[in-house]
Amino acid sequence: MKEACGVVGIVAPGRDVSHLCYDALYALQHRGQESAGMATFVNEQITVVKDNGLVSHVFTDTTLRALAGSFVIGHTRYSTSGSANWTAAQPVYRSAGASGFALAHNGNLTNTTELAALAGISYTSMLSDSDLVAELLALDVNAGASLTTALRDVLSRCEGAFSMVILDAHEVHAVRDPYGFRPLCLGRLGSVDAVEGWVVASESPALDVLGATFVREINPGEMVTITKDGVTSTQLLAPAAVGEKLCIFEFVYFARPDAYLMGHQVHTTRRRMGELLAKQSSVTADLVMGVPDSGVPAAEGFAKASGIPFGYGLVKNRYIGRTFISPDQDRRAASVRRKLNPLRENIEGQRLVVVDDSIVRGTTTQALVRMLRDAGAAEVHLRISSPPFMWPCYYGIDTPTRAELLAANHTIEEMNKFIGSDSLEFISLENLRAAIELDGECCDACLTGNYPAPTPVALGGVVTSRW
Ligand code: SF4
Repeated sequence: MKEACGVVGIVAPGRDVSHLCYDALYALQHRGQESAGMATFVNEQITVVKDNGLVSHVFTDTTLRALAGSFVIGHTRYSTSGSANWTAAQPVYRSAGASGFALAHNGNLTNTTELAALAGISYTSMLSDSDLVAELLALDVNAGASLTTALRDVLSRCEGAFSMVILDAHEVHAVRDPYGFRPLCLGRLGSVDAVEGWVVASESPALDVLGATFVREINPGEMVTITKDGVTSTQLLAPAAVGEKLCIFEFVYFARPDAYLMGHQVHTTRRRMGELLAKQSSVTADLVMGVPDSGVPAAEGFAKASGIPFGYGLVKNRYIGRTFISPDQDRRAASVRRKLNPLRENIEGQRLVVVDDSIVRGTTTQALVRMLRDAGAAEVHLRISSPPFMWPCYYGIDTPTRAELLAANHTIEEMNKFIGSDSLEFISLENLRAAIELDGECCDACLTGNYPAPTPVALGGVVTSRW
């Protein structure tokens, strides 16, 4: 599974906002490694710089100096492989209105075909769902609407997931969809008595890196508008009747462990997942190890609750970018070996409990188990800190079709046999919710099939983009 984007917006008169935005995007690099971009209002015009590559590849000190100004938005993006066209990188710009505007989006709209058709546009002429939103906003603004009115009009017609930042000459808007599928939080630069500016970002570590104070999360359907004079809040869209539905996989896998979501530090929730998993699915073993990165805190929790020693069994290469696999290599095995290497002396002869966050197709896990056995593991007992992944995601995560999801088509016993592990257990949904201390406030559609918002299939359309 791949996350699909991180967004940032900063208003800080007198501060070097482009360098601040660079640091914030750098902190959100895990949410998208395919392209990065920034838009500022400087010299009476909006300037956008974006390209394929990591944040550190796209921007230089010279570029950042050219992006001086008081307002900035930024974006890191992941898209499905094959759509590596830099023109689809964000922010997306339109010249509508007095100054034009730029927009950056984390999420995935599910009614793009219908939305485009209603406006007399062919969706195939758009670069992405974010490009379509920009086009629809531009139509409204060119017809005389203010950007705020256009946002209300267009976003009220959008189905699916969107945490968005939008910049024009005077302000930065930050909007979250009525379900709050993707995270978005607000922070303050400076002190309460001497405010130096405001920041919105997908995750709180992007605030920490700037020395900003976390203020609060943006509410579902809320729009926060930041100007040189401060912050105002509007309930732009009515919150969904089913309540907040933040993606449960932000806790399991996507978000940084140091992020705070719904008031919980993600690392703490992952450790609790491991503790509850150990109580639920105990096993006799010599060593508990996690699959880096998100499996490690869950493994620590498992070790604590089970009394089995915690240790490291895998080293992760942190510099994996785009890789190329020759046709004569086993694709999955080669990809796992590039990313992970076993610590043989820790593993040899040991009965291992291996804690991972999820199983999607199962082929990567199969290659991992084979690698551990080749390194001398006596037994490999898999413990997974999410329930079986049974349904595709339509809300901003790149997942395979149902036919390709291992758990959708096999029993746990069959999965265990296919993967080659000695035993396989998944945390129950009840225990996952308990670990996050939730009372149903998260989307868990890929685990239960209970989609809180319309899906493209229900709308008679197809998924055409995943930005
Ligand atoms: S379907 Fe799954 S991955 Fe997608 S938003 Fe819901 S919980 Fe997250």
